[in-house]
Amino acid sequence: MSQLKYKRILLKLSGEALNGGDKSQIINSDILAQYAIEIKSVVDAGCEVAIVIGGGNIFRGASSNSGIEREQGDYMGMMATVINGMAIQSALEKIGLHTRLLSAIKVEQVAEPFIRRRAIRHLEKGRVVILGAGTGNPYFSTDSGGALRANELGVNLLLKGTSVDGVYTADPRKDPTATRYKQISYDEAISKNLKIMDLTAFALCKENKMPIIVFDMNQEGNLMKVVTGGDLGTLVTE
Ligand code: UDP
Repeated sequence: MSQLKYKRILLKLSGEALNGGDKSQIINSDILAQYAIEIKSVVDAGCEVAIVIGGGNIFRGASSNSGIEREQGDYMGMMATVINGMAIQSALEKIGLHTRLLSAIKVEQVAEPFIRRRAIRHLEKGRVVILGAGTGNPYFSTDSGGALRANELGVNLLLKGTSVDGVYTADPRKDPTATRYKQISYDEAISKNLKIMDLTAFALCKENKMPIIVFDMNQEGNLMKVVTGGDLGTLVTE
């Protein structure tokens, strides 16, 4: 069995990760299945996994041009994260994992309410805990939901799964001279305006010294490499 560096993690995935950037579909079944395999590999190795999923592939309150008022749009965005959570739950259960979907807003027929002690108990029992509806409040993002839950569930690491291998000095898709930061401090990331997470989420991590690793979730085996201390992505720490 692989040696885990991080025993309990929270994985933050954006909603758009689920459609692979293809706006003509909401969820790409191949990507969903691949993510499930990645997650199973670390659960099988004994890692306790909580997942916070975004809703950007379906609806974003603040940036939608729908004319819908902000607060209503934000609740719609939160509902979108529950839909994505249900999709991940289904994919994980299909390959034999035990899961629980916990929501920050009440949707009792499909998800348990988020209760911190209960979530921790599920993790201890080896169930993958999927956290829907972000913080449960408008004016927040799922990055903030991820930072909040990471802290209250006592995880050892907040993982931000993206389609880029970490944080770069410039956009590597536009600038070939861009280099990856292996490690960066919270303060440096803020002063360089690196936009790893929104400021609310970032402030919460900094204040509570929650380490963050930004890594490429689309490369097979990467999640396992990160939780076993492999050298990839960018570590944000003190
Ligand atoms: N949202 C919210 N409060 C939260 C989390 C999310 O109001 O605590 C809403 C907000 O409108 C947000 C949308 O849900 O735009 C989807 O979440 P997010 O934009 O973080 O998803 P991602 O960009 O990760 O796909």
